[in-house]
Amino acid sequence: MYNKNQIWREIISNGLEKGISCNEPMKKYTSWKIGGNADFFCTPSHQEQLAKLLLFALEHSLPIYIIGNGTNIWVSDEDIRGLVVRIAHTLDKVEYSDKMIKTGAGILLPALAKKAADRGLSGLEFAAHIPGTLGGAILNNASFGKESISDIVSEITLLHYRKGNIVTLKRGQFSFFYREIDLGYNEFVLLEASLLLSTMDKESISLKIKNFYEQRKTTQPVNFLTAGCIFKNAQEKPAGYLIDKAGAKGLMVGDAQVSTKHANFILNRGHATASDILRLIEKIEKMVEKTFGIKLEREIDFIGLPGYR
Ligand SMILES: Cc1cc2nc3c(=O)[nH]c(=O)nc-3n(C[C@H](O)[C@H](O)[C@H](O)COP(=O)(O)OP(=O)(O)OC[C@H]3O[C@@H](n4cnc5c(N)ncnc54)[C@H](O)[C@@H]3O)c2cc1C
Repeated sequence: MYNKNQIWREIISNGLEKGISCNEPMKKYTSWKIGGNADFFCTPSHQEQLAKLLLFALEHSLPIYIIGNGTNIWVSDEDIRGLVVRIAHTLDKVEYSDKMIKTGAGILLPALAKKAADRGLSGLEFAAHIPGTLGGAILNNASFGKESISDIVSEITLLHYRKGNIVTLKRGQFSFFYREIDLGYNEFVLLEASLLLSTMDKESISLKIKNFYEQRKTTQPVNFLTAGCIFKNAQEKPAGYLIDKAGAKGLMVGDAQVSTKHANFILNRGHATASDILRLIEKIEKMVEKTFGIKLEREIDFIGLPGYR
């Protein structure tokens, strides 16, 4: 493993230190408020800085972690060795052309949904209360009810950082699946996307947003620290149903608790650690497998867990 001080000196000598911090608490950047300190952390202010920094990290064998707004990830309590790059509240320029919105991947979905609504453009109402970035939503094929981001994405631009090139893919050159996208690339940062929306009167858009929110409030624990759904739905049944029927609703480890409202959500009741949450996830998996013989597949991504990237 690398020498942190030596790497920091090289970051400075390469003129890359602007916007980079050392030992940055990841708790500040995860919706669960969990995670140890990242050795190196950056929110890049433009694509060029991002590309240079990632190249530096590759040349110095620093593990690289890309995050959006940290609303669907688990981050270990241990220090994160490597570089964490946060693409939220940055790379968020928006351009409009008729029914098309082209925007940076770092824009937050509620802000984007509002911009679309203000212009009488429909298609993002489902996302108005999803707290992630557009980039995270595309990577996870975020959805609510019967609507999903895959319905509206028409073009994607990514930085393929090992090759150092920027690639634009049109619809048809990538495939969406349930909570996944296949772009045909690894080691990339999603930079921007174009969304094709439809026109609708503003009152109807507001009503759709309101209805989605009512549905969310009734079924999900909206006023708690969570990371959205933990598991993908199984083919047989929704994960929340299986967890509930396996008897795990309300189960606690430390300050982490399976929501009593929607069993596919884990709440941080205030002082839960990443380790509490992980032990709870493992307990749920065992209980569901024992009860139904079904292995739940994790939806959230893990940073700092051996075996995961
Ligand atoms: C209260 C709450 C409600 C939620 N409701 C929903 C819901 O209704 N529907 C739903 O689908 N999800 C929901 N989620 C989950 C989550 O908000 C979404 O999946 C969201 O799209 C994740 O975006 P993010 O920016 O937070 O991604 P992160 O959690 O930061 O990252 C998720 C994954 O995407 C990758 N990634 C993110 N940005 C980039 C990028 N620019 N380039 C390359 N890789 C990137 C990361 O490496 C990671 O693997 C909810 C979460 C919470 C906390």
